[in-house]
This record gives sequence, structure tokens and C-alpha cells, in this order.
Amino acid sequence: MIIKPRIRGFICTTAHPTGCAANVRQQIDYVQQQAPPESGPPINNALVLGCSGGYGLASRIVAGFGCGAATLGVSFEKSPSAKKTATAGWYNNVAFEEEAAAAGLYAKTLDGDAFSDAMKERVIETIKADMGQIDLLIYSLASPVRQHPRTGELHRSVIKPLGEALHMKSVNVDRGEVLEVDLEPADADEIAATVAVMGGEDWEFWIDALKEAGVLAPGFRTLAYTYIGTDLTWPIYWEGTLGKAKEDLDRAAAAITTELADLGGEARVAVLKAVVTQAMSAIPVVPLYASLLFKAMKERGVHEDPIAHIFRMYATQLCSAEPMRLDDVGRIRMDDLEMTDDVQDDVRQRWEQVTTDNLGSLGDLSGFREDFLKIFGFGFAGVDYEADLDPTLGRGD
Ligand code: NAD
Repeated sequence: MIIKPRIRGFICTTAHPTGCAANVRQQIDYVQQQAPPESGPPINNALVLGCSGGYGLASRIVAGFGCGAATLGVSFEKSPSAKKTATAGWYNNVAFEEEAAAAGLYAKTLDGDAFSDAMKERVIETIKADMGQIDLLIYSLASPVRQHPRTGELHRSVIKPLGEALHMKSVNVDRGEVLEVDLEPADADEIAATVAVMGGEDWEFWIDALKEAGVLAPGFRTLAYTYIGTDLTWPIYWEGTLGKAKEDLDRAAAAITTELADLGGEARVAVLKAVVTQAMSAIPVVPLYASLLFKAMKERGVHEDPIAHIFRMYATQLCSAEPMRLDDVGRIRMDDLEMTDDVQDDVRQRWEQVTTDNLGSLGDLSGFREDFLKIFGFGFAGVDYEADLDPTLGRGD
């Protein structure tokens, strides 16, 4: 099969296996070119939930190739068939495992629903059999649905404002069109459902189960990722349904830290910068903000992609002898470069002026599109995109 990108709205329904492998390799190369993070508590065995793409994949790559950790990953991806490619995350997992094996690093990936009790049991069995205990858990799931393991109820998250209807600038990335979107406010059930999917309860369920099974090492640490942004995106993000869910992570972090006291462990929420991922592309308004932000940050030489951002988090926060850079709620602030007044004032000016006609010069739409295609393995130098490939890599059905 000759594999080309097939874009439908904010997703690409095909993925390129060799390109995904190049994506993983490029991130490993980046990490190997940096001085390894070497102070602070060691990271020997890491569990990454949501390991197959975006920030979770970057977190796994830094844990493995930066810290030399054994990594167990969990993700929910679609395997390939002879006629249909797998999802990008499936190819990323294969590539990561092959790279890890070649480097002599333990890596196993479990595919399935991380919200389920069954997956928690599989993970515990695997840790007991292969690792003994883990000292780090990265919680990097981004999902639109969660079947609650106790009630069986299927919760669907929504991306909506609270209180009042929203009328805001957005962008159709595919067509390069700046447009206005209208979003109705969420009702109470929708808010609760979004908190049930993207809030902290499942993170707590994971820690409860792992602790109960005795697989958390003394000094165990866990991180969940959040985004806060500024007034430009607050109406759709931090002050909307997603923000309510993310606020619940702050509650969960405090509860988990209390639960981990006897192990000398802690849970923290890490606030990360806006980058292009599958999850992020699905949020209205944010891609417009991101393309203006990328331009402003690139002009100042402070732009980071997921791997550079996560490497900096490990090097300066998790694996550093220096105290962590925390805000007043105890969150790790990695969004410092995005949040400077200089960058935000610039983005605000661009935001006021941006139209379809000047988007190409005021924003970095081409950079956004390139990053988007790369998620699916397209656009890597050295990859033969005319090659006739077996999408199953000899492994699928
Ligand atoms: P992503 O779409 O790239 O990755 C999501 C991961 O979750 C994938 O590995 C996917 O397989 C996995 N997943 C989804 N549902 C699952 C399930 N039921 N069981 C197992 N695995 C499942 O997303 P991302 O943007 O990297 O988001 C990760 C976290 O980072 C989220 O909490 C997000 O809010 C946060 N974050 C993202 C940004 C950004 O700009 N992308 C910024 C700050 C914080």
C-alpha cells in the first residue's frame, strides 16, 4: 500500500509506519544530543499512561533514553489490517519498543482502555513480573470518553464554555480560514461528564490500585498534565468544561500526595505549553491561538516542541537538585516561556488583527500544519512516501 495523508477535519485517518518510526527516532536523537539529566532522585521504572503520542510519548522517550529507565506504557490505539493503516500511536509504540530493545532498555506497551479495572490489573501483573516497583507514573491520557469502571456509565466529555454562549475567532486549519465560532454553554450534566472523563478520579483509581498492590517504590512520584493559558483561550479552555476537569486534577493531586505520605511520595500537576497533538487539534479556537503563539515564540527563539519541552521538564524539575518551580497551588510551571508578558502581548496584538488574508504572515499556520502531519508520520526527510508498504508490518491481522 502507498500511504498518503487523508485528512478529515481535525484528524488524519491514515498514518505512515516508516514516518512514525522517523518521528520516534528524531525525538530519541534530540534526547541523546542533550546532556543526560542526572541529579535528583533516580528514575528506574516508569509507567506512562497515554504513551503513544504527544506529551506521553515524549515523556516515555525522556524517561527511557534520557534517564535509562525501564518503561511500561499504556495506550488505546487501533491495530492495522492489510487494507487499513494502524493509528499513528500503534506505529509509534512499535518503533519505541524496537528502539528500546536495540538500546538494551526494557519497554513493554499494553494496549487497551486505561480507565478500566482490567487494564489496571494487567499493569500491576506486568510490574510485579518485570519491574518489581515503579518510581514514576506519568498520567497523560487525553480522551473524549470514559466508561466508568464502577457504574458502567459511558461519560462523554464536551468542549464548551460555562455560563454564557461564546462567540470567538477560530481557524479552519485545513482551509487556512479565520472564522467565528459560536459555542453554546454546557449544562450541569455535560460539565460533570467532562470532569468524569478528564478530571482526577481515574488518576486516583490508578494510585489506589498500584499502592494496594505494593508496586509503588519509596519516594514514588506521579505527574498529570494540564494547560492553563491566558485570557485569549480561557473562555474555551480554563474557564470552560475542560478547565473544570483540569481543576479537578489539582484536587486529586493533593489527595494523592496525602495517600503517598507513608512512601514519602508526591503527586503534582504539571502545566505544559500549547503544542500540536491529536487532542489539541480537536479543541476549537486553540489552533488559532497556537499558530499565532508559535510565530511569536519562534521569532524569539523560545519555541519548544513536545520533546524539547518535556526534556526541559525532566532536566530542570524532575531530575534536578534545584527546588521545583511551583505556583501557589503547587503545580509545576513549564509554561513559563509561553506566559511571558512579552510573548502574550505580541500574541494578543496578532489575535486582534488576524484575518484569513494575513494569517500566513501573522501566524505560523505552515508550522502548525507541518507539526500536525508529523503526528501521523508525514513530512519526514529521508522517508520514501512512494514506497509500497505492508501497513501491518507483518504483525497485524
Ligand atoms: P494525545 O492525543 O497526543 O495523546 C493522548 C494519549 O492518550 C494517547 O497515547 C492515547 O492512546 C491515550 N488514550 C486516550 N484514551 C485512552 C484510553 N481510554 N486508554 C488508554 N489510553 C488512552 O494528547 P496530548 O495532547 O499529548 O495530551 C496529553 C495530556 O497533556 C492531556 O492531559 C492534555 O490535556 C495535556 N496537555 C496538552 C497540551 C497540548 O497543547 N497538547 C498542553 C498542555 C497539557
